[in-house]
Amino acid sequence: MNIYGMTIKMLQDYFASSGENPAKAKIIFNEIYKNRVTSFYDISNLSESVKDKLGRDFEITPAELVTKYENETSSKYLFRLSDGLTIETVLMKHDYGNGVCISTQVGCNMNCIFCESGKLKKVRNLHTYEMVQQVLYIRDILNIPVSHIVLMGIGEPFDNYENTMNFIDIVTEQPGIEIAARHVTVSTSGITPKIIEFAQRKVVNSLAISLHAPNDELRNKLMPINKKYPVSGLIDAAREYTKSGNKKVTFAYIMIKNLNDSNECAVELAQLVKDVNCYVNLIPYNKTRSTDYEPSDKKRIAEFFDILKSCGINVTVRREFGGDINAACGQLSADYVNDQKTSFF
Ligand code: SAH
Repeated sequence: MNIYGMTIKMLQDYFASSGENPAKAKIIFNEIYKNRVTSFYDISNLSESVKDKLGRDFEITPAELVTKYENETSSKYLFRLSDGLTIETVLMKHDYGNGVCISTQVGCNMNCIFCESGKLKKVRNLHTYEMVQQVLYIRDILNIPVSHIVLMGIGEPFDNYENTMNFIDIVTEQPGIEIAARHVTVSTSGITPKIIEFAQRKVVNSLAISLHAPNDELRNKLMPINKKYPVSGLIDAAREYTKSGNKKVTFAYIMIKNLNDSNECAVELAQLVKDVNCYVNLIPYNKTRSTDYEPSDKKRIAEFFDILKSCGINVTVRREFGGDINAACGQLSADYVNDQKTSFF
């Protein structure tokens, strides 16, 4: 068991079950995440026998880097997991801080037609510690402060709900890595029941829903998950999320040329979300190697934007990150699978 997979609560239970003081859980969090110790023997205020027991029960191992791509604003890291599978993590440097884009699964079962990650079927869920290791690699090994985390890498976080929630607890808990809860954003393709469950959690994080189409007919074509969880129920769940604790939800809407970028789509989208406390984030499609879709041109995006704006919707256009290093959302991992057949890097 890797210690990075343990929440404070889990560690308290672990200590309590062996007759130790559960308060040791916070000592561990303080030492591991604030003082960054990588051996239990470097923790001064624990007895030798407790250190021995911890050493027998847990490993403290970092992520193993295979390779990286870098440009001025973002870097993409490829990590090898203990079973040989690989995942990717992206670091994005913003004016307001550094964001880490975390993968939650190896592959993805959502099968969105525009997305590279979905080309590789889900192989397995990531363990909690494998998500924490992605953050710690940036923060501790590269020594780059991390202020924001987005769960927008490979995988569907709500298809790996429990491990993802444990991950969120670990990165937001005090003492610990202490990322502000609202600076942790979960992005989902729309697993409606999990959105409702997420809405009921005490910790308030940020939620993004990958909407990409304003009606079932189009969304069914783009995102097969919509057949299981159609648009109206999804919007209801989003509304419910915003009501629990005065939160805003972000609807991501990728702009794909001649597919979902018409004026009619804009009007329909505005109608759909107008009574939800939300932002709409328009994202120019990032061309991927195995799909033929093109991004909408700038003029089309501007017109689409103006329609939403004139309907009173809070709308933004996302600056693209990592396009030149294939680190844009939905371009992760499948690269590696392809490149393995040729030569990677
Ligand atoms: N499964 C989650 C999170 C991973 S994908 C989700 O669907 O939200 C992160 C975001 O990237 C999603 O909004 C997804 O639809 C989007 N995306 C996928 N491929 C893309 C591409 N080629 N260009 C732009 N965005 C893309």
